[in-house]
Amino acid sequence: MRQGRVIVLVVVALLVGAFFAFGGHHALSFDNIKAQQASIQALFEANPWTTACVFFLAYVAVTGLSLPGAALMTLIAGAIFGLGWGTLIVSFASSAGATLAFVVSRFLLRDWVQARFGHQLRSINDGVAREGGFYLFTLRLIPAVPFFVINLVMGLTPMGTWRFYWVSQLGMLAGTIVYVNAGTQLAAIDSPMGILSPGLIGAFVLLGIFPLIAKRAVEFGKARRAFARWTRPARFDRNVVVIGAGAGGLVSAMIGAAVRAKVTLVEKHRMGGDCLNTGCVPSKALIKSARVVDQIRRAQDYGLKQASAAFDFADVMERVQRVIKTVEPHDSVERYTAMGVECLEGEAKIVSPWTVEITLANGQRRTLSTRAIVIAAGARPFVPPIPGLEEIGYLTSDTIWALRALPARLVVLGGGPIGSELTQAFARFGAKVTQVEMLPRILMREDPEVSDAVMRRFAQDGVDVRVNHTAKRFLVENGEKVLIAEHQGREARIEFDAVLVAVGRIANTTGYGLEELGIRTTPARTVETNEYLQTIYPNITACGDVAGPYQFTHVSAHQAWYASVNALFGTFKKFRADYSVIPWATFTDPEIARVGLNEIEAKERKIPYEVTVYGIDDLDRAIADGEAHGMVKVLTVPGKDRILGVTIVGEHAGDLIAEFIIAMRHGLGLNKILGTIHIYPTLAEANKYVAGAWKRAHAPETVLRWLARFHTWMRGDR
Ligand SMILES: Cc1cc2nc3c(=O)[nH]c(=O)nc-3n(C[C@H](O)[C@H](O)[C@H](O)COP(=O)(O)OP(=O)(O)OC[C@H]3O[C@@H](n4cnc5c(N)ncnc54)[C@H](O)[C@@H]3O)c2cc1C
Repeated sequence: MRQGRVIVLVVVALLVGAFFAFGGHHALSFDNIKAQQASIQALFEANPWTTACVFFLAYVAVTGLSLPGAALMTLIAGAIFGLGWGTLIVSFASSAGATLAFVVSRFLLRDWVQARFGHQLRSINDGVAREGGFYLFTLRLIPAVPFFVINLVMGLTPMGTWRFYWVSQLGMLAGTIVYVNAGTQLAAIDSPMGILSPGLIGAFVLLGIFPLIAKRAVEFGKARRAFARWTRPARFDRNVVVIGAGAGGLVSAMIGAAVRAKVTLVEKHRMGGDCLNTGCVPSKALIKSARVVDQIRRAQDYGLKQASAAFDFADVMERVQRVIKTVEPHDSVERYTAMGVECLEGEAKIVSPWTVEITLANGQRRTLSTRAIVIAAGARPFVPPIPGLEEIGYLTSDTIWALRALPARLVVLGGGPIGSELTQAFARFGAKVTQVEMLPRILMREDPEVSDAVMRRFAQDGVDVRVNHTAKRFLVENGEKVLIAEHQGREARIEFDAVLVAVGRIANTTGYGLEELGIRTTPARTVETNEYLQTIYPNITACGDVAGPYQFTHVSAHQAWYASVNALFGTFKKFRADYSVIPWATFTDPEIARVGLNEIEAKERKIPYEVTVYGIDDLDRAIADGEAHGMVKVLTVPGKDRILGVTIVGEHAGDLIAEFIIAMRHGLGLNKILGTIHIYPTLAEANKYVAGAWKRAHAPETVLRWLARFHTWMRGDR
């Protein structure tokens, strides 16, 4: 490949060199062309086909090699072949030449450019993948953008070659006709610049923005088609109805009320949704109790002779409920009503793009017409169809909070964040936990050493982690519940008392009108939306777990802004949901937090990176706290301090990473973190130390050598 590139580069350089060395640029000057017009004309009359073929090939060569003279050759085509034939020949030759230049640029440079700048180019790549044809068409129509620049730059993007060819041919047609037509009057033209009068340039610019207008028209047409079979109410009861009062729905309703829209929020189960009732809040409350138990067991590490961790599991679970109760007011009907949101307890069903039917908790029905609808219906635990599972009975993250007796032997199916957090918590309370994961390690999204750190800790907590184990069936044998898993072609038997299924969550997309409205789901089984979170009906948007692709409370809240603003104001201005910096944490011990790329992703996406690691075992505060373990691992652009991603493993990793989230969001590099005062002694100093480690690895050695000499000289040593 590399050799091929060198050969192509040499050939291109030789051809370009030869063009200039043999005076090609003089031959293709305007005066020369005018002087030679009669003899070329004679040549054409003597051998029309040969002249046309040679001209075609010469045109392809000039444009393919990005040589100057294409505009002049277009004029000659008009002068010699006339408007019809001239347009035909130039149209195909220029498109072929442009595609040749595109392919050469791609072959020589694309891999390098994408590898070097792929991360920064991500949004451009996404844009080209989505709307590249429109961009190219627009650029082709505006003659102010040089032809050869478009060819070379487009070659560096992911646009397909065939698409590039036909969009170019179509986009260049208007300009080609204008030039070829001008060429038919070559004798009357004084300079090629004269062809483009300000009026003509204006017309081209108008043509250039035509594709964007066309795009809007297409969007409008699509929406009209979707709306066609429905009758739009003459007036509306509400500006927006929000379905679901989890993180996504609550924030959507809050934003609607803040901008003084008339908002109704419908919740069929419990205000606060998953996060408050069965997700983040109870799991973090449980994890805290488990941690206290663990710390008491490690009392001697803290200089205490003895401490007892006697507890009743039922009390722990009651505390979890008390925590939920304490947080509940934040998401309560009272709070949202005070904000100006109408909160309805009931099940919502979308019956038209502007109508929501609500079956209230008391059995009554209400129908509300609304200009906009935000779908924030969340997700539920996915239960795989494993033989015997239904019969044996199982727990999920929805039902586990009702437990009051600790299962003696618990199987946790799933090595993702939810499965891992609950595995460790239950193990610390004394359950004999077996975690079953079909992949080679738990927390597969993270780098291998991160999974290793968690698995080492799990081993200390007495967890039996079974990776590469696929659950095959459940059965009861001699009154004992048994899981049969496949491991390296053999069957493994795991006896247990309770099983927690935590193998992923699936969006709630059925039963509330989406099917009837023709709103489709994605292959990931989330509601299909565009980049503005709009469904096929622009006034119906979706956010949170139901929309994906992330399943976090903070992402639901982030999306809610786009979903509500685009639903309410999308007719005037829409905002594309921004996923450029998405952080998350897994609240195991050690805690794991991440923002941006880790090594696995950087390799997958062929993004070059440098790694700097600071071991938290060396941090004063972590040592004082008896938590001297973990690391801060930063990926940067090679040779630069620009942060590509950070993984933190250790105490309060989820809090520590905030500094890097801000840095990435606002383009601050490691030098800025290093130049910021961090309080001593805090865990946050780890962030500064990793920046220091990066700085030391990039110390200007030559300058330092000279400085050493300078100091030697200052000391009077010679
Ligand atoms: C055990 C566990 C731990 C987690 N820990 C974390 C964590 O630490 N950090 C984090 O960021 N995320 C965590 N998550 C994920 C987080 O809980 C979800 O990402 C978040 O709750 C999604 O919010 P949402 O608004 O999209 O959906 P939900 O919170 O699920 O809300 C959707 C609501 O819509 C209602 N609804 C559905 N259909 C209708 C209808 N037709 N009519 C009326 N109401 C309807 C549902 O009853 C529900 O209340 C955890 C999840 C679990 C299960």
